[in-house]
Amino acid sequence: MSLPASEIRSNPGSRLKRIILISTPWPLYSRPSIQLGSLKAYLNAQFPGLEIRALHPYLKVAEEVGYEIYSAISDRTWLAESVCGALIFPERKRGIEKIFYREASRSAKLRGLHFGALISQVGQVLEKVVRDVDWTSCGLVGFSICLCQLTSSLYLIKQIKQCCPGLPVVVGGSMFSGGQAYELARSFPEIDYVVNGEGELPLSRLIRYIGSTKQSDKLLPMPGVIARKEIEVEDSVGFDQLESLNDLPPPDYDDYFDVLKSLRPEKRFFPTLPAEVSRGCWWKSTPGNSKHTGCAFCNLNLQWDGYRFKNVSQVVAEIDCLTTKYRTLSVAFMDNLLPSGKSKEIFSQLAGLEKDLRLFAEIRSTTSRTMLMAMKKAGTHKIQVGIEALSTKLLRKLHKGTTAIQNMQIMRDCEELGISNNSNIIIHFPGSDAEDVDETLRTLDFAFPFRPLRLVRFWLGLGSPVWHDFRGFGLKAVFNHRNYGILFPPEVCRSISFMIQSYRGDLGYQRKLWQPVKKRLLEWKKSYTDIHGRGTRSPILSFLDGRDFLIIRQKRYRAEALTHRLVGPSRAIYLFCQQHRSLKHIVEHFPKTGADKVAPFLKMMVDKKLVYEENDRYLSLAVPAPK
Ligand code: SF4
Repeated sequence: MSLPASEIRSNPGSRLKRIILISTPWPLYSRPSIQLGSLKAYLNAQFPGLEIRALHPYLKVAEEVGYEIYSAISDRTWLAESVCGALIFPERKRGIEKIFYREASRSAKLRGLHFGALISQVGQVLEKVVRDVDWTSCGLVGFSICLCQLTSSLYLIKQIKQCCPGLPVVVGGSMFSGGQAYELARSFPEIDYVVNGEGELPLSRLIRYIGSTKQSDKLLPMPGVIARKEIEVEDSVGFDQLESLNDLPPPDYDDYFDVLKSLRPEKRFFPTLPAEVSRGCWWKSTPGNSKHTGCAFCNLNLQWDGYRFKNVSQVVAEIDCLTTKYRTLSVAFMDNLLPSGKSKEIFSQLAGLEKDLRLFAEIRSTTSRTMLMAMKKAGTHKIQVGIEALSTKLLRKLHKGTTAIQNMQIMRDCEELGISNNSNIIIHFPGSDAEDVDETLRTLDFAFPFRPLRLVRFWLGLGSPVWHDFRGFGLKAVFNHRNYGILFPPEVCRSISFMIQSYRGDLGYQRKLWQPVKKRLLEWKKSYTDIHGRGTRSPILSFLDGRDFLIIRQKRYRAEALTHRLVGPSRAIYLFCQQHRSLKHIVEHFPKTGADKVAPFLKMMVDKKLVYEENDRYLSLAVPAPK
């Protein structure tokens, strides 16, 4: 029997007076944990008499090792996991430090760093965290384990259990769900409970259960919670999630800001506030995505069922409240995907707050220019777009539901609006072929004026569509990444399916195949940096409008800039194609010019790399020169 949500209320006779929530290294140091902030705010409202502390030991670690070094480590999973891996399993240190040095050699900031010194520095900070808390006064300790936090959480759990063996430990977060949650609990006896999916309701039930005078077995199983007593009977644990996000109070980041205030003055900074509009991904359940699996490589949504989002006024009020309370203006939306229908209204209302916000968000490349303009007006200065590929054929294999010309459109629009587009291009995707690479290379020739994409090698995520249907993607076998076998003892590695998987398949072929793209991406980065390094940050490809003529300026890498003049209808057609259009539509729009003139003009523009063409659709690449 389990408690209905309405019964999850504070119990006046509760034995539970205090709980502690912990987010361990290595998330971004410059943001409080949204997982902890949201849980704390929700639990405070549910249990007014309960003291809830949210510990952010990662901020103390960042202060100690230095922000640059911390950032470089937190940027790479294996660097991050190896530090505390060596602390939990010192007998494995020799193998683990090899992982560290191999990964560190790719980062200029980490070259020369001594692994032994680093782990002892981190260990001392974490030991102090454990020493500074009176664990005996605490009734429950909870860990949010997300990317890069596995070994550090396990290390702290062990330390805390040594001090206070009877203290119940609950873990949750995006690193484990479903069957993996059972595997984790079986392998680490220090863990008493695992929450599957979002934490608000399960944690509330657990608090009620632990706080009750008789921890009755009748209360088990608790939806969304795996208790140690139940781990041998693996069942489908399921989720227990809020029906609506509208009742969530704004996250509580007080504890993070308290730590920040306690840092040495020269170490203090203005953090970014994480905010949340939605949970899940609407693209997964969109009718156009017939397989309903979401993008083939993505496993970001394993901890949620469906897509929920807050209403507009709540989001706006929350951001207003958080920025006022914490006196900082930088806000990052943590959503996998903002809601498509509501976002414009959200950004329009945020602009109405009359605060100089600095916003970051992740969006799909189908986002319209008007939407981008609303985002810009509200203060969005940086975005990550789900670009992933510059070949439509490959985008189909990735189940992205987008095309190369849509990706080029949003790259162009970001350039025009001055929004920094920090997006990725995935290489080595299983089953990609020579045609995908050729299409990519062709598109890259036109993408040079825009901010370069970051190269990301495909990695196999547990629970992603490729992982589920690995044979369908041409792979022969999937298994834990071999680094887990170095970090963890063999019995643990055999019993848990970890988040990062490896595979046997076409990787050797893929590495060879994508070599020219890697080279071209490097050239892109070099030329973009070089051209912008020469002075102003004005666009590489821009135009000035003379009302009935247009002057296009095309800056080039280590060569003089070219200029082109378009007069009369040529100007009009070029401006019309700032939004990509089909040839048919263009011809219909310019009946006097006629197809016999429009088509050769567009071909000439494509040859000069001033217009991008795909399947008879045309996109003008030059953006208005800044005034
Ligand atoms: S990559 Fe983004 S859009 Fe695609 S399934 Fe994942 S969250 Fe959704």
